[in-house]
Amino acid sequence: MYDVIIIGGGPAGLTAAIYARRAEKSVLVLTGGAAGGAAALTPFIENFPSHLRIGGAELTDVIKTQAVNFGAEFRDETVTDVCLRGGEKTATTAEDCYVARNIIIATGTKIRDLGVPNEEKLVGKGVSYCAVCDGNFFRRRAVCVVGGGNTALTDALYLAGLCSKVYLIHRRNEFRASPALVSEVLTKPNVEVVYNSKITTLVGIERLEGVTVQNVETGAEQSIEVKGLFVAVGSVPNSELFKSVETTNGGAIITNSQMQTNIPGIFAIGDVRDTPLRQIITACADGAVAATFLLK
Ligand code: NAP
Repeated sequence: MYDVIIIGGGPAGLTAAIYARRAEKSVLVLTGGAAGGAAALTPFIENFPSHLRIGGAELTDVIKTQAVNFGAEFRDETVTDVCLRGGEKTATTAEDCYVARNIIIATGTKIRDLGVPNEEKLVGKGVSYCAVCDGNFFRRRAVCVVGGGNTALTDALYLAGLCSKVYLIHRRNEFRASPALVSEVLTKPNVEVVYNSKITTLVGIERLEGVTVQNVETGAEQSIEVKGLFVAVGSVPNSELFKSVETTNGGAIITNSQMQTNIPGIFAIGDVRDTPLRQIITACADGAVAATFLLK
């Protein structure tokens, strides 16, 4: 029996592992794929204290190395079932069933689709949800990014360095992304912002050839020729597995200030949690707090 099983290997889960190990707890991290989470797919990070600018994968690799060096055990397995009640909680994967006194849920969020016809068919044929993973396929081509949050603006900046032209399509006339990112994007000569607009049609059968964009105020439509569409319209908490845990209507897990959920010994940290700020720094802080208040 472990003192704690951490489900999820993003910055929140990795930091919880560091703090739990330093408190001499036995720790199993079930990462369900490579560790690093969404942060590892972020092209660059400029707001994590101690690094002027660092790649997401580089940052999360270092945090994982810290956790490994302190003795956390990692398994690249996906949790398919949990039993959260009682003193012995379990997490089941295809490979095994693990038991612990505490479980920390650090499962992050999953990417939201844009929801336009043919989107699914064109995934991998021009439609992408990850600029870092796929941007390179569109070198010297025109692409568009849809969304107005930090992910969309970060993606637009990254793609501006690779692509001939980046159309940034946003449904409003102001961004929710941080002002520093917005200012930087607006200085890029090859980024054109298409405000107050939504994508109505994806043009292309075998591959994406363009998008039709409608102005939400005037109804006017325009066609834009692009070979790539990067969807960055937010994400949804990965909380469906934890049915007995209390969530908001949007699925974010509700915790107290010690990251405890409504079930004793079950904690939630990082982006899956109902939190006012989703940043790497706050995810790490959540992990540190949860690991400090584990049940004995
Ligand atoms: P987000 O902040 O929820 O932004 C989603 C954006 O997509 C919004 O601008 C929203 O428009 C737009 N949108 C939503 N549904 C849409 C639809 N159906 N059609 C068109 N547009 C749609 O999501 P995110 O940018 O992925 O960020 C997620 C969290 O991670 C945030 O808390 C963010 O701050 C954080 N993050 C931080 C950084 C960083 O600090 N460097 C980087 C990445 C992510 P409206 O604005 O009109 O609602």
